[in-house]
Amino acid sequence: RVALQRFLDERWPEPTPREGRSRLIVLAGPTAVGKGTVAAEIKAHHPEILLSVSATTRAPRPGEVEGEHYFFVSDAEFDRLVAEGELLEHATVHNRHRYGTPRAPIDAALAAGRTVLLEIDLQGARQVRAAEPSATLVFLLPPSWDELVQRLVGRGTEDDEERARRLRTAKKELAAQGEFDFHVVNDDVARAAAEIAALVR
Ligand code: 5GP
Repeated sequence: RVALQRFLDERWPEPTPREGRSRLIVLAGPTAVGKGTVAAEIKAHHPEILLSVSATTRAPRPGEVEGEHYFFVSDAEFDRLVAEGELLEHATVHNRHRYGTPRAPIDAALAAGRTVLLEIDLQGARQVRAAEPSATLVFLLPPSWDELVQRLVGRGTEDDEERARRLRTAKKELAAQGEFDFHVVNDDVARAAAEIAALVR
């Protein structure tokens, strides 16, 4: 808590496109920080940017659409994707379900000159960094730890046990923010989205 506050009090430089960074953008950050909302905002305002759709073994939440939010697959199907090298990265998130990024749509979009945005967890971000060292890694921060807890409770999609699990992961993820090229505070969704989109212009 104290370390996070000290971190947030520092003055972060305005994000500017960095020489040598590629059009493959990874957006990571702790649970409930609003990665999904920010990614959706970027998609809405920048249709030229491809928002990658992940495969997952978790069940759909109410309102989630197959092929739009995720490809919902069985464990066996996920195993097959891994075995056949179909995933750019994959990880078990919150010690529970498996998630992975289909490789083919990304390769095609990058080859066509498009920018690609991946909204994935820390383990996945590290794998992308290893596979594509020029990838642009962006870490989305909450305005404060308390705000993060409030957002997780407020969205009401997890039970107590799952919430506790996600907050443990969040602490570990926040500790790794130094590995990222850019830090963006999600105090305002439109502004955070604009900041990220500006990185590739
Ligand atoms: P949720 O279950 O709330 O949709 O997502 C849980 C976590 O999984 C989020 O932190 C999200 O960023 C991460 N995630 C979603 N898709 C992928 C993926 O393809 N790869 C990895 N490594 N993490 C993912």
